[in-house]
Amino acid sequence: MNNKQSRTNESISKNKFNPAIRMNYLFIFVVIIITLCFLSLGYSFDKYKRIASNEASILAESLESMLHSEHIVELEGAANDINKPEYKMLKNNLQHLAETTNPIQFAYIMRLVDNNIVILLDSEPVSSPDYSPPGQIYDEANPIFKRPFQTGQTILTPPISDRWGTWISALVPVIDSDSGQVIAIFGVDYSARDWQIKLYQQMIPDFIIVFSLLLFLVALLYTYYQKTILRALSDKLTYDEALYHSIFTQAPIGIALAKGNNFLLESEYGHANINPMFEKILDRPKSEISEVSWPDMTYSDDLKVDLEMFDQFKKGKTDAYTLEKRFVKPDNTIVWTNMTISKLMGLADEREMHLCLIEDITARKLAEHNLFESERSKSVLLSNLPGMAYRCCYDINWTMQFVSDGCFKLTGYKAEDLINNKNLSYNDIITPVYRQLLWNEWANVLRLRKPFRYEYEITTATGEQKWVMELGEGIFNDSDEVEALEGIILDISDRKTAEDRLLFTSEHDSWTGLFNRRYLEKILNDDAYSINPEKRALVCINLNTMYLLSLSYGFGYSQNVLKSIADTLSVLCNSKRMLFSSYEYRFVFYLKAYHTKDDLLDFCKELSDRISPIMIAERITGGIGILEINDDNKNDIELMLKNVLLATESSLKNDESDISIIFYDDEMSSQINREENISRELLQICDGINVDRLYLQFQPIVDLSKNKICGFEALARLNSEYYGNVPPNEFIQVAEKNKLIIKLGDIIINKALFFLRDLENNGFSNITVSINISAIQLLRNDFSDNLLEMIKRFAINPANIWLELTESIFSSNFDEINKIISRLKNQGMKIAIDDFGTGYSSLAREREINANCLKIDKYFIDKLLIYQPGETITSDIISMGHKLGHRIIAEGVEYASQLEYLIKHGCDMVQGYLISKPLNEEIAIEKLRVYNNGSDC
Ligand code: C2E
Ligand code: CA
Ligand code: CA
Repeated sequence: MNNKQSRTNESISKNKFNPAIRMNYLFIFVVIIITLCFLSLGYSFDKYKRIASNEASILAESLESMLHSEHIVELEGAANDINKPEYKMLKNNLQHLAETTNPIQFAYIMRLVDNNIVILLDSEPVSSPDYSPPGQIYDEANPIFKRPFQTGQTILTPPISDRWGTWISALVPVIDSDSGQVIAIFGVDYSARDWQIKLYQQMIPDFIIVFSLLLFLVALLYTYYQKTILRALSDKLTYDEALYHSIFTQAPIGIALAKGNNFLLESEYGHANINPMFEKILDRPKSEISEVSWPDMTYSDDLKVDLEMFDQFKKGKTDAYTLEKRFVKPDNTIVWTNMTISKLMGLADEREMHLCLIEDITARKLAEHNLFESERSKSVLLSNLPGMAYRCCYDINWTMQFVSDGCFKLTGYKAEDLINNKNLSYNDIITPVYRQLLWNEWANVLRLRKPFRYEYEITTATGEQKWVMELGEGIFNDSDEVEALEGIILDISDRKTAEDRLLFTSEHDSWTGLFNRRYLEKILNDDAYSINPEKRALVCINLNTMYLLSLSYGFGYSQNVLKSIADTLSVLCNSKRMLFSSYEYRFVFYLKAYHTKDDLLDFCKELSDRISPIMIAERITGGIGILEINDDNKNDIELMLKNVLLATESSLKNDESDISIIFYDDEMSSQINREENISRELLQICDGINVDRLYLQFQPIVDLSKNKICGFEALARLNSEYYGNVPPNEFIQVAEKNKLIIKLGDIIINKALFFLRDLENNGFSNITVSINISAIQLLRNDFSDNLLEMIKRFAINPANIWLELTESIFSSNFDEINKIISRLKNQGMKIAIDDFGTGYSSLAREREINANCLKIDKYFIDKLLIYQPGETITSDIISMGHKLGHRIIAEGVEYASQLEYLIKHGCDMVQGYLISKPLNEEIAIEKLRVYNNGSDC
């Protein structure tokens, strides 16, 4: 229906249906009709009355004309009139008149005498009780009786009552024809009742007409009334129909009529029996719904219950039933419905058909399922939670509304003990010192709407202290007020213990049990920001030479010595002196509240005295460095520790036999800078920058048996950008410290091999080149392979290569080093033990060393100048070396006397300034040529 149409209908129905207006019209119509009826009746009545009056008057007048007025004149109005013939004649006339003229009851003649109405004669016989004798004054006469005397007109009176009854009288004046005067009135009385009856009798046709009219009106009204009722009924029906249709088609529930096992497509009146929602829910068109029976559309699991309930319903045991059931859609998916089956009331065959209402509750079912699942997993989660989940009020007692089962395991109290603070509140369980802190923390996070996380201790039912971690958050209502708090409380006691342990290990040295360097740094850092005016200092004891102990006797041994030193030093600790094991073989005292430098020195002496016996016994040396902490250095802890270590290292260099004590000063820092610069330069060289700054010099080695140069020792040189020539002792040590020696070593070997090839190219095919190899280099896995690879590349005879290893190398990893050496020797190379006699290996051990040669350290050669030949052991070393099958080279031969001694005692080779200083390549070759007279060795 379009809009326009609906509006028209609306306006029509407005007029049609406005009963108030209709009733008004109707009322007016009825009033008019009734009024007209009465008016018509009144009019007729008047008309009949007028006719009757006229007739009466005319009758009376005609009767009067029949009387002889001359007779009446004769009457005197006295008793003697009776005897007058006129009287008798007139009396007869009147009597005759009254008897024969039907409606007339009385006739009489009266005269006005002295303003009194006097009866002259009447129609009544003398014997009648109503007889009035002539001359009798009619004192009951109505004044109207006088009017004909005054007007000379006939008068019809209204009904007048007297002692004889109620009368209507026609009074005709009797006029004397001579004088023209009214001499008497002639009156006839009509019975008022008869008069009235007659009038009404005349009215009967009118009454009948009016009555018929009214009857017609009533019939009309009744018809109208019936029509109104019908129209109202029809309207109601239309409304009901519209309402039903709207609901049926638009209802959000599916509606269908069914008969037995089938839904009905249409009613016998053509109405649809299946609404669109029903089609939608079952996802089938209604034609299909009506063809497939409902048990066929029902999900198999739900069919049994449905059929049972339906059976009860059919038998009339229930009026209706509701069931949550599943229908199967054409695509075999399922729709969950809430179905109600009920009787179709008001129909003749109630049992035949029934109403089926379905509501799609798939979403609800899904939500229920999800809720169930989430509730289930929540409950699994809560019951397996290593702690307790809670919901509590935000009050000082933390009044619990919900507590999970984990409560008992965590606190030793049952959940119900805590709910609503039944037996105790959660606050009671919290260890008192944390209560206020916890409250403050919650207040803080709730204000910022942040999640809560806090660790604190609780006291369980058995009195045990437990560390817990609480994680939670506030629940806010619509007005932004805290409604509750929710979260979990976890037992973290184990973690705390582990943390404590970790903290201990992170702050302590595992071997000595002393605080470690990390903790020292932490404390120094903390103190750097304190405004304590106390003087502070670091005292570092450097026992670096202990590494030699471990080389000789193994790591375990040196660690035990270290432990006993740590124990000895620990005795000196007090609240102002803390002891740390800072680096390997180094201890640091952190001193506070001393007064002067002398106090520090006194302390250092004391500690030196305490550890000296151990150091002497173990043949280890040490140094003590002191660094005073001041405002300039207090913030750079790294530097502070480095500097105090530097002080110990320079104290180590002191040759004094006692442990020397050195204060850190600025000179030391410039030393540090030098080392750093050298290190940087070496790094550049390794990276291929300024490579020429590293070069080799070659020092001749003379074979005493032939007095010919048989080889050269390759000695590394560094021409520093900042410091000019830096001695190899210094830069090699820096390179070793920074592990640069590996790359640097390769460069040196490369250059040495280059020299060796030049020698060969110059015709010297059995001149050897000795290359110094650091321990770090040798112990690299790939050292041998690398070296052999290079030799191959240069196509050099490996027999011309000597490798010089310092004696101390052999103290550690003896077997492994011997293995490496053997391999190199097998390739034809020779091994020399450098600086022999300064290290720790005993001569007896040399036997086992797979070397070819011993280089006696300059120390022993120098001694030749001081002592008498018989007093030195140099000759012993030579003969011992020979006995062990090694050849002997003497280093640092500067004087002829030394050479003499060496020749005398059978030394094989010498090297020293006496013959030549280390030389650049060309000069070295030139020297060789000259010395050997151009021949090989
Ligand atoms: P070293 O292996 O004992 O080398 C012998 C040292 O004694 C050299 O000092 C040499 O110049 C010096 N010398 C030789 N004859 C005399 C003499 O008659 N009188 C005096 N006073 N000294 C003499 P240099 O070159 O300063 O080397 C010092 C140390 O540096 C070497 O001692 C060696 O341990 C190390 N070094 C030098 N070059 C290398 C290298 O390429 N690699 C490794 N790893 N170390 C090297
Ligand atoms: Ca050497
Ligand atoms: Ca040497």
